[in-house]
Amino acid sequence: MGYDVGRFQGEVDEELMCSICGGVLEDPLQAPSCEHAFCASCIHEWLNHQQSCPIDRRNLTPLQLKQVPRILKNLLSKLLISCDNNNFGCDAIVRLDSLNSHLSQCQHNPKRPIQCEKGCGLVVPFDELLHHNCVRELNVIIQNQNLKLVEVQSQIDDQRQQLNEQKREIQALKDMMRAVRVLNIPQALPPVPDDHVNQPALVHQSDELREWILSLPQARVTRWGGMISTPDAVLQAVIRRALSDSGCPATVISELMENAHERRWPPGLSTLETRQINRRRYEQYICRRIAGKQAVIIMSCENEHMGEALTLDPGIVMIFAHGIE
Ligand SMILES: [Zn+2]
Ligand SMILES: [Zn+2]
Ligand SMILES: [Zn+2]
Ligand SMILES: [Zn+2]
Repeated sequence: MGYDVGRFQGEVDEELMCSICGGVLEDPLQAPSCEHAFCASCIHEWLNHQQSCPIDRRNLTPLQLKQVPRILKNLLSKLLISCDNNNFGCDAIVRLDSLNSHLSQCQHNPKRPIQCEKGCGLVVPFDELLHHNCVRELNVIIQNQNLKLVEVQSQIDDQRQQLNEQKREIQALKDMMRAVRVLNIPQALPPVPDDHVNQPALVHQSDELREWILSLPQARVTRWGGMISTPDAVLQAVIRRALSDSGCPATVISELMENAHERRWPPGLSTLETRQINRRRYEQYICRRIAGKQAVIIMSCENEHMGEALTLDPGIVMIFAHGIE
């Protein structure tokens, strides 16, 4: 849209006018062959509807438009024009090519930003300063901040809910893993017969003993040759304390500790010679770890599959120099 011709000093040449809007050319472009010039916004709007020159109807597309000659631009830039804020009291008259730089500093611009000096310190457009009310403006700001706070609060609530859900899922997983561990025990035992006569010994154990056995992690012995088959009193005392710390029922500890020495062990374990012969069979043992010690418990109730020559009631404590995982 061109400039109102009434804002210019003196006559404006017909060549510098846009025939679409009737104003003085603003950002002019011209058709390639007829060289008719128009404001950029005017000719683009026109070509949206019909692709021809508005003056001579020759074919014209937006891509064919080109810059006007430098001489035309020079003529335009030298024109003297009144300020946009003339109605607000600015009587400046400037060259067209410096109009924008004047407008950016014009003291009569009704929209120029002014800092309120009545107390709130907000920056407001000059024309709104007259009706500006510090309390009302600050109230609006507080209300907006309250809205944001409510939004943030609800986001936090959402995240808290998600966290709780994840906690529940983790708990469910833990429960499932515990159940799987418990289920793994009977698998290592013979199947439960229907007549209840030969039920796995683990079922017969008191709840306390059963729970304790299940609470111990399974262990793997990597070096059966590291076995200490004749532990001395000090070593036995250390293992006894570890058993007690692990929650082993007091009634069972003494029995188990008596079975920590090879003199009590069954035929399949009792001598170095038999141990060397049977070493591969020991891989079939279900061993439980005594926490923090190089020692395992082989409970008879979990090792019925090994046979009497390799088990002892209620279980065998085996202490090693190394090789327990
Ligand atoms: Zn125009
Ligand atoms: Zn034309
Ligand atoms: Zn001005
Ligand atoms: Zn204010």
